[in-house]
Amino acid sequence: LHPALFAAVFGAIGTVVLEREERIASLIHDLRIKADTDGLTGLFNHRAFQTRIRDLVQRAEGPISLLLLDLDRFKAFNDLHGHPAGDELLKALGGRIAHSIRDRDVACRYGGEEFAVLLPGSDLEEAGRVADRLRVHVVGEPFRLNELEPVRVTLSGGATQRRPGEPVPDWIARTDRLLYRAKDAGRDRILSES
Ligand code: GH3
Ligand code: MG
Ligand code: MG
Repeated sequence: LHPALFAAVFGAIGTVVLEREERIASLIHDLRIKADTDGLTGLFNHRAFQTRIRDLVQRAEGPISLLLLDLDRFKAFNDLHGHPAGDELLKALGGRIAHSIRDRDVACRYGGEEFAVLLPGSDLEEAGRVADRLRVHVVGEPFRLNELEPVRVTLSGGATQRRPGEPVPDWIARTDRLLYRAKDAGRDRILSES
């Protein structure tokens, strides 16, 4: 083979291989994002929540707070309006949660009709302000869904600041207990505890 031809052939092969690698890298990137995203709301999913909370705790220099929120009486909403309307509501609710927080905060769909918001750099007082703003945006504004009269919904929640050295599962469980206390106390409220 003539050296110039040899170089041209291997150059072409190299380009094809590089293009393939770039395509694969971009596919892996898209898949990673998909694996961390909730398909209905576009928020982070439960899996991403678990990794993000641990990452944030490890990297945290200041305070860090957590909100766990649960839609009140959502089963009744589904029974009355149907699951497609319920899905639409969850999607709209996810959007309102995302719009009520700051760039550095992390909104997740924790499960069915439960949401988690991670607030890095926020102490409990600031978390309470975020929770209030969120409640105003969610509870204060009726949802206009396809083919339904505007509907109002309420949320119950727990807001906590991580205690120094508190293991992540204990912190989540403590916040969850507050959420259940909010339900027991009559719903439509976010209880906080330092
Ligand atoms: P509470 O105030 O005690 O939280 O009552 P609830 O009815 O909201 O709670 P419960 O746990 O009894 O019911 C949760 C409901 O959420 C039942 C389930 O059908 C509904 N749900 C969970 N995920 C989805 C979803 O992705 N789409 C729809 N449409 N409904 C969902
Ligand atoms: Mg629930
Ligand atoms: Mg509920």
